Amino acid sequence: MHIKSAEFVMSNSDVEKCPKSLIPEYAFIGRSNVGKSSLINMLTNKKSLAKTSGRPGKTQLINHFLINQEWHLVDLPGYGYAKVSKSSKKTFQKFITQYFSKRTQLVTAFVLIDIRHLPQTVDLDFMQWMGENGIPFSIIFTKADKLKPNAITKHVEDYKNILLETWEDMPNYFITSSSKVIGQDEVLGYIQGLNEN
Ligand code: GDP
Repeated sequence: MHIKSAEFVMSNSDVEKCPKSLIPEYAFIGRSNVGKSSLINMLTNKKSLAKTSGRPGKTQLINHFLINQEWHLVDLPGYGYAKVSKSSKKTFQKFITQYFSKRTQLVTAFVLIDIRHLPQTVDLDFMQWMGENGIPFSIIFTKADKLKPNAITKHVEDYKNILLETWEDMPNYFITSSSKVIGQDEVLGYIQGLNEN
């Protein structure tokens, strides 16, 4: 997919106020610092698209971007802040539950995982929750430039082994690096394929 245009549409804290348009929607979510903003900018060939709407601090916002006048890319808040209270974890859960239950135009979500680390409970729990709730998702491994190829294979295998204990299939997954522009064609090609269905 060739990116012809990518523009910020709106930020919302209320799912009800998100764009009413029924064009296909793809959500990006992951632990804070996983490289989500960098990935969104890499995919869209923009230097700071994701930052345009990013407000530092704890505000949890749903950010919509319109790509090629055809589909919405949605930047969801990061999870897994080490220091947040139980009540803000609950708020996050409610917020995300609402997003995934209300946005029927969502085609699939992309769960971002930092390839450098061994499987982390917070990510596994999140994917478990997505699976149990029937929310389609793919995995995007980020920061692949930080590891050698055999370490990448090993870390992906570790995830596979754990996920296949519970699920029949491994979700689709992509290996990416925003700094080295790896995985852009694969992720965009996948989205294009889904849009054409
Ligand atoms: P976010 O909090 O998930 O939006 O993460 P950011 O995109 O802000 O990235 C967090 C940190 O990881 C920043 O210091 C980035 O420079 C770094 N980072 C993001 N993507 C990559 C990547 O592909 N490779 C490397 N080496 N660093 C990355």
